[in-house]
Amino acid sequence: MDDDIREIIIIGSGPAGLTAAIYAARANLAPLVIEGEPSSTSDQPGGQLMLTTEVENYPGFVEGIMGPELMMAFRGQAARFGAEILTARVTRVDLSERPFGVWVGDPDVPAPTHRAHALIVATGARSLMLGLEAEERLIGHGVSTCATCDGFFFRGQHIAVVGGGDSAMEEALFLTKFAEKVTVIHRRDELRASKIMQERAQKNDKIEFCWNHVVVDVLGDTKVEGVEVEHVHTGERSTLPVTGLFVAIGHRPNTDLFRGQLDMDANGYLITGPGTRTNVEGVFACGDVQDHTYRQAITAAGSGCMAAIDAERWLESRGDIDAQRTATNW
Ligand code: NAP
Repeated sequence: MDDDIREIIIIGSGPAGLTAAIYAARANLAPLVIEGEPSSTSDQPGGQLMLTTEVENYPGFVEGIMGPELMMAFRGQAARFGAEILTARVTRVDLSERPFGVWVGDPDVPAPTHRAHALIVATGARSLMLGLEAEERLIGHGVSTCATCDGFFFRGQHIAVVGGGDSAMEEALFLTKFAEKVTVIHRRDELRASKIMQERAQKNDKIEFCWNHVVVDVLGDTKVEGVEVEHVHTGERSTLPVTGLFVAIGHRPNTDLFRGQLDMDANGYLITGPGTRTNVEGVFACGDVQDHTYRQAITAAGSGCMAAIDAERWLESRGDIDAQRTATNW
């Protein structure tokens, strides 16, 4: 049991959590970052960028940077300013009173393992995946969940998108800027996407549909060389000769921990505002856990900065910290 009551605990260590940590540490708030566990896909340290190869759209890197390398730099920068980083998975939180309680390890023990006056939630979201072994192996090597991030690498190629919702249509449309042909693989013969997105996709000459099919395998050892699909009614299998597979079957925010305590929308995303405030005073949220629209590293980092500033100002207004001590030049 850690008897110290922290000023701030940050849950999550993607671009949002670590940017919040950099700002909070520079404000002398000695934040504790609980970064997640390497074994878990939903809360792995560093978040979704750890599953990406090259990041070409993060400003400041003329030649691009590998996703894991970028996250190591974020982490090092946070540590340099005194953020403490704990590799563990949060299993329970109690936001009913301050200081807030945070548990790592056994959630059934009565006392929290950590307590803090303010909490920043940066637990991110995860892309839903098909659950194929090859899909996991080839992520970052032709399998992707982000057309904005990776579309550029598929110039002039034939690629596939799985899914029939707005995300799939959006990804497919975006990918036509680069690809020669985009095949949308959908498990039914009717799209779930909004009418306007359906129309746009159906009118686009580069997009073709592979109806009533599911992906059963991704071919290739070190890069995608094709996708094996199966007709859902006949069971007949065939191979699509694509070099990329974009999985767009939905996202799930990592908010199970906060159910019943923080307000969420129908899809489970935390509701924030004004700024990064949640419905519980002293709890702030940033990054993909509260953003289903932009979902970019740079927007997550920006909202992490906002959360740290909001939290610091809130703590200051509550008299929890000495305003003199945090007179920091942001
Ligand atoms: P979604 O609406 O839940 O659609 C997921 C799609 O993936 C569905 O077509 C579903 O098939 C398919 N799917 C799910 N699991 C599958 C599996 N295991 N194998 C194969 N296919 C599978 O998710 P979304 O497209 O990410 O959208 C989520 C929300 O964000 C929606 O409310 C959407 O309107 C919104 N959104 C809006 C925009 C926009 O307005 N520009 C863009 C993106 C997202 P079935 O149809 O058969 O269930």
